[in-house]
Formats: sequence, C-alpha cells, structure tokens
Amino acid sequence: MKVKTRFAPSPTGDLHIGSIRTALYSWLFARRYNGKFVLRIEDTDVERSQELSVKSILQGLKWLGLNWDEGPYFQSQRLERYKEVIEIMLQTGNAYKCFCSAKEIEEERLKQLSEGKKPRYNRFCRNLKKKYSSNKKYVIRFKNPTFGKVSFEDKIRGKITFNNFELDDLVIQRSNGIPTYNFCVVIDDLDMNITHVIRGEDHINNTPRQINILKSLKAEIPIYAHVSMILDENKKKFSKRNNSENIIEYYKKGFLPEALINYIIRLGWSHGDQEIFNISELKKLFNLDTISKSSSAFSMKKLLWLNKYYINTLPSSYITNLLQDYMKNENINIANGPNLKCLLKLYKNRYHTLKEIACSFRFFYEEFELFNIKEVNKYLISKNLYILKNIYTQLNELSSWTIKILSEFFNNQSIVLNLEIREINVLLRVVLTGNVHSPNIHSIILLLGKEKTLLRIKKAIFFIQAKK
Ligand code: GLU
Repeated sequence: MKVKTRFAPSPTGDLHIGSIRTALYSWLFARRYNGKFVLRIEDTDVERSQELSVKSILQGLKWLGLNWDEGPYFQSQRLERYKEVIEIMLQTGNAYKCFCSAKEIEEERLKQLSEGKKPRYNRFCRNLKKKYSSNKKYVIRFKNPTFGKVSFEDKIRGKITFNNFELDDLVIQRSNGIPTYNFCVVIDDLDMNITHVIRGEDHINNTPRQINILKSLKAEIPIYAHVSMILDENKKKFSKRNNSENIIEYYKKGFLPEALINYIIRLGWSHGDQEIFNISELKKLFNLDTISKSSSAFSMKKLLWLNKYYINTLPSSYITNLLQDYMKNENINIANGPNLKCLLKLYKNRYHTLKEIACSFRFFYEEFELFNIKEVNKYLISKNLYILKNIYTQLNELSSWTIKILSEFFNNQSIVLNLEIREINVLLRVVLTGNVHSPNIHSIILLLGKEKTLLRIKKAIFFIQAKK
C-alpha cells in the first residue's frame, strides 16, 4: 500500500501551532514511507472561508518546508463531483431528501430535551411517501444504519466503537445545495486515495459518520489517527483566542523553522529521551506508534531554548542569510557597518531569537543619542572625562587595528591611567554600544572600526563637557 496522507485545513483563520502539528505529522508520515502528502483546503463553509486565510496557510507551510505533492485542492472547486455522488446515493437509497423546516426540527429538539432524551433528527422524512412540490426547500440526509455498531482502530487511541443508534441521519447537502463538511471529507479522502487520516481529536465524533458513508459507497476505510490537543501555558485548551498566534508570527519574532519543527514534533511524539531532531532524522524515525494519547502543554521557554540551540549550531552562513531579513525589517542598513557574519559569531550565544540579535546589532550600524542611555548619569560624568580624552588621543595614533594590538593598547591604558581594566571596559561599553553589557569590548572596537570608535568617544567627551 502506497501511503498517502493529507492536511485539510478550513480557511477560517490563521494556522496555529495545533494545526501545524497535524500538518507536520501527516507530512512526516508520508515522507517516512515514501508516500504522498496532499494539501486540501476545506472551504465549503462559504460564509466563514477567507481568501486571506488560504494565503496565510500556504505561507506558513512553505516557511516550515512542509511541501505538498498534490494540491492545493479546493473543495469549492469540486462541487460537481459531490453532486454526482449525492445523486447516486439518492438513487441507491443511501440518502434522502428531508423537507422538515428548521422550525419543525427545533420544536422536535426541544420536545426530546424536555423528555430527557438526547436530541436527534426523528427521521420523519426517511421513508417518506408523500410528494412535495418541487419548490419546497429540502436538505439531503445520509441514511445512517439504525442498528449495529461502527468501530475503528485508532492508531493513537486503540479501538473506538460507536452505536449506530446514537448517530443522526447526517445532513450531507444543505438547503442551498452546498454539501457539508462530513460528506466532502469522505468523498475527497476516497477520490484522493488517502490511506491515513491524521487529524485532531475534535474529529473523533465525525469518524463513525464518515466511516458509515464510506461503507455505503463500498469504499475502503482509511486508517485513522486522532492527535490529542495542545494546552497553553495555563493548561487551557490552545485556541484561536489565547496565545495561539498565526505561525507566521513566530517567523516575525525571529524563530527558525528548524526550531519550530523540532519543538512541535515533541508536543506529543517521542523517540526515547531524545530532544533534538533534525528533519532528515525525523523522516527516518517518525511513526504513529509513539504519539501520546494525553495532551501536551506548550512551553515558550523550551521553544526559546531550542531556537537558541539552532542559532548556535546551524551553519553561520545560513543564519547570517536569514538575519539579513530581520535587519531589513528593523530598518538597519547593513552596508553602514561591519560584516554581519563576524558580528554573529560574537553575539550568537547571547540571544534566543533572530529578532533580538538584529535589534542588538543596531548600534554597529547607526549612531545613538547618549542622553538616551540608561546609565548616563553613572558613567558620562566629569570624573571620566580625562580617561576618555586620553584614550581618544592615544587611540587616534594607533596605526594598526587588530585584536592583538587593541588588547595590548587597553592593557597599557589601564596601567597609564591607573585603573582596573574592567573599569575602562564598562565605560567604553556605555560610550560605544549604549549598554553596560556586551561581548568582548575589544572585538566590538575591532568590528566598529577606528573612525566610528573615535567619533563615539568624541561625542561622549562633548556630551560630558556640555553638561558641566
Ligand atoms: N477541515 C477540518 C479542520 O480544519 C479538518 C478535517 C479533517 O482533517 O478531516 O478542522
């Protein structure tokens, strides 16, 4: 059997972590078994489907590298096919027209509720002999078996059984002629030869209904795997309302696709105690057998940890390339300063995201106002004027600008000025970077270059003098 999986989002919102995990599992399962991965957009809910959501779904999948082999198929473009099958089902007696009005159905529902019964359609039209006029509105319902059971072996949860008696005669075509979700999914999975349906556990109740329709069409039943939900950091269901942002927001915040994939895969799937997985490894290891039945909790702390790990371990040229976009987004012109790759080497183990790195590089490329510095009153004071003046004059005379020469120079200055080297360093940090913390200040001076270094020291001298 050639494995074929699908990701079938409804374009009613953005892609969030939960849907991406379903996509990732389906994609990896297909890759693991050299199968095919189909992308299908389930847009028959015309009122709620949005063009923008489709765009954002495609964008998110592309960013993470979850490429599809077929599609995107759009259910809205397959309406003829659904009509054709519904026609056959009407002819074979597997479906029927239901003329009951919304009002009648609601009355029946209330009656059942008042009798303590579970509300469901009373099948009034199932064996209807009466002929209605051709302009009377109707829906089409599936003739669900009324007795027996329907079971399936869920790859994650084991055997799941429903009594047919519990299931309604499902509406498969609305009164406006548009088929419903449960019906379209069945026809699509069938036509697209889907072998494994991997989706969220919120679809478990749909599965027996879908299986019954497939059975009525004498079709093969795919294998189902229902993935548990993801909880947010407050252990609440991850939903579109609480912090489950569009996956593209993670890009904007400076996360790497590698980190996100690694993070998401571990939200429910495991391979021993291993935490770090690259894609090619996952393509060999992934299976449905070790997906957990229990829900997993989202942790930003762990995601940040993984992102930092990947920033530090992926090739610097790759990270530098990505970083360029973040510099651009921050409006930092990298032509105005040092080589980005060299800077990255110096800074990469200090930050968790590419955006943080980009922001921390700004001072290399742009001048900043000294009065904006937090510690201005502690460092830019008359007591330090002679130190800065002395360094300025001596530094100006340096003919060579290497890390060795700069280190020697500042060691020498500490003797000449009778100061601890760290006292000089912190003052230089404030003057040159606007911050009391930075990587090795001599490396920064080296990368900043002589001209900018002198200019900033001079600015600090003027600043202190003007304050006097
Ligand atoms: N369109 C459904 C959703 O977005 C998924 C359907 C399925 O996977 O069968 O929840």
